[in-house]
Amino acid sequence: MKIDIRNLHKDYNGSGVPALNGVNLTIEHGELVALLGPSGSGKTTLLRSIAGLESPTSGAILFDGQDALHQDVRDRNVGFVFQHYALFRHMTVLDNVGFGLSVRPRNRRPAASEIDRRARELLALVQLDGLEGRYPSQLSGGQRQRVALARALAIEPSVLLLDEPFGALDAKVRKDLRAWLRDLHDRTGHTTVFVTHDQEEALELADRVAIVNRGQIEQIAPPLALYRSPATPFVYEFLGSVNVLPVDVRDGKAFLDGCPVPLADAAQGTDAGAYRMYVRPHDLRLSEQRTPGSGALGVLQNVRLSGGLVRLDLKLDLIARPIEVELPVSDPRWSDWKKGDKLAIAADRFHL
Ligand code: ADP
Ligand code: MG
Repeated sequence: MKIDIRNLHKDYNGSGVPALNGVNLTIEHGELVALLGPSGSGKTTLLRSIAGLESPTSGAILFDGQDALHQDVRDRNVGFVFQHYALFRHMTVLDNVGFGLSVRPRNRRPAASEIDRRARELLALVQLDGLEGRYPSQLSGGQRQRVALARALAIEPSVLLLDEPFGALDAKVRKDLRAWLRDLHDRTGHTTVFVTHDQEEALELADRVAIVNRGQIEQIAPPLALYRSPATPFVYEFLGSVNVLPVDVRDGKAFLDGCPVPLADAAQGTDAGAYRMYVRPHDLRLSEQRTPGSGALGVLQNVRLSGGLVRLDLKLDLIARPIEVELPVSDPRWSDWKKGDKLAIAADRFHL
């Protein structure tokens, strides 16, 4: 199912700021798109609008080119999973999975034996076979969310909508489920929209990531393209640590603290003037001597190990906050460096 969202607006009664402020988004058939944004940015409102649980103030939603907004919610054939497991506590796992089928109108309801068969098949798909007879209270959090997914899939949805489905689980389980969901998607190919506020989750899981900010899509792109070429400062800062450095651009060159730094292709042809340069910690290069053209000078304030990386804080004269630089632990130089050392900084890749 292809989903087209056109100029979608949503104002909740009484609130001054619109929850959705002109969303345009196309999700291709079989695609897994993550909606990534801070809390309150409108992700849930957008997802609930696609599901038909919320009615937008204006705009259009098309499913395979057909108007979905004026379609009965039950006819949209959408599977929905929420952050907080909405399983029925008094029903077994098997009955929970079969629930969506068993409440269908009589003429579209499969026979009880068929519902049973399908529910078992789905539990096998989410790797919970053997737990059919358990109650939700007898499952771990991760298992409950897999039951919720099986239940959403049981109705054979054309679209699968997941609203922070792993948000309430601990980090390890979340990471496992992430890989598992990607694998499930590759096998079943449901058009899927996945909401999260976790950048790592979105980048690892999705075919494309849509950055949601203040009720709008700031950028939508495949994970690597998004990370490499953020379209706006908001996207840059939301996707990982970034240093923001004041530079002057003149004659096609950028100058940081009076020292030239090469301009990335994207920044060629930039008009002369003062700019903010965005550069990620691992895209900064350090050298021990300040030779002409080697870059601006910083004073080392702190060296610490973090995962497989060395993080260094450097103080530049012209910025109040120290800048952050990352090196691989295997870099042979850092063990000799100490607080107070002066190091030259150059940027390999950055944006203006
Ligand atoms: P997110 O899922 O990204 O955290 P939401 O879509 O839940 O964002 O909320 C977007 C904005 O709409 C927020 O400002 C929120 O306070 C507001 N909002 C959400 N639901 C309602 C509601 N039922 N009534 C009034 N305002 C709401
Ligand atoms: Mg939400």
